[in-house]
Amino acid sequence: MWTPAMKGERIYILDVLGGNGDRDSANDKDWIPHCFVKSTSKEFIGCTSMSEAFHRLDLARAVNDVRRFNFICKVVQILVEEKLPNLSATARKSLLGILTAICFRSSNEDVNVSTAKDLVKNFGNGLDNVNVCGSPQLVSRHHQTASSLLDLISEKNIRTAADADDESALTFFDLPREVIMLVLRRLPDHNSLLETAQVHEALQEMIDGEDKIWKSLCTFHFQEYQIKKQKTCEKSWRQAFFDLKKYHGCRELYADLIHICCHCKALFWKSLGHPCVRETTAPSVRVTPRQFVDMLIYL
Ligand SMILES: [Zn+2]
Repeated sequence: MWTPAMKGERIYILDVLGGNGDRDSANDKDWIPHCFVKSTSKEFIGCTSMSEAFHRLDLARAVNDVRRFNFICKVVQILVEEKLPNLSATARKSLLGILTAICFRSSNEDVNVSTAKDLVKNFGNGLDNVNVCGSPQLVSRHHQTASSLLDLISEKNIRTAADADDESALTFFDLPREVIMLVLRRLPDHNSLLETAQVHEALQEMIDGEDKIWKSLCTFHFQEYQIKKQKTCEKSWRQAFFDLKKYHGCRELYADLIHICCHCKALFWKSLGHPCVRETTAPSVRVTPRQFVDMLIYL
């Protein structure tokens, strides 16, 4: 599927499957999601758009893989919050496709509902920017899709930790407090903690009252020397966490993420690898979600 590079999409990608080959013409079963990236160079005869890169890296389907979900959500978050006016109408349509896949997964599996909701809301708000590409009719259609997705997510009757099918059944709160605390200390970031606190007043009380939870979060995200600089006797671990976050930013960890091959410049999922032109395994480096977005927009 060939799409010419459009406004704001100065990416030049060559797919080795027959030059600008069609991914759909390849045997889908054997297809390993990847695309080749190279800045302007005459030896590369093909170029494509952000939407094609999304397609070739199979982002919409990859949201169903729990290992890749967080990486894709972060990419979508950066795009909807910061880059919507930089996207062509085609790229925005692809983004909406990924967003739809995220919402269906969240709705069907009852997971990451608030993440999906935030992404759709920000997408809808971003469309109000006068600089977004496309005809008013197209923008209005994207608005309608966003509000349908929001309805889909909002209709979801979210079961909370305190719900049980019958009165005799155990709930999350029947666990010993120490066990609940251990679960809370496993949450990966402050957003997860603050969202969990909103679910039930007992959780709110634990998260507000137990400094140990915030200490765990500090030690997970920051180095010891960084913590020493910020944490004083007067300052709670909760406050220290937000101060540390302000100065250093949280660690970004992903179970799977996009890598770029140092030899052939292919972008690929680390867990899946790529068909490299070099026979022995070539070194590759990780690409963070922000680098990935910048690569697609500014390369
Ligand atoms: Zn390679």
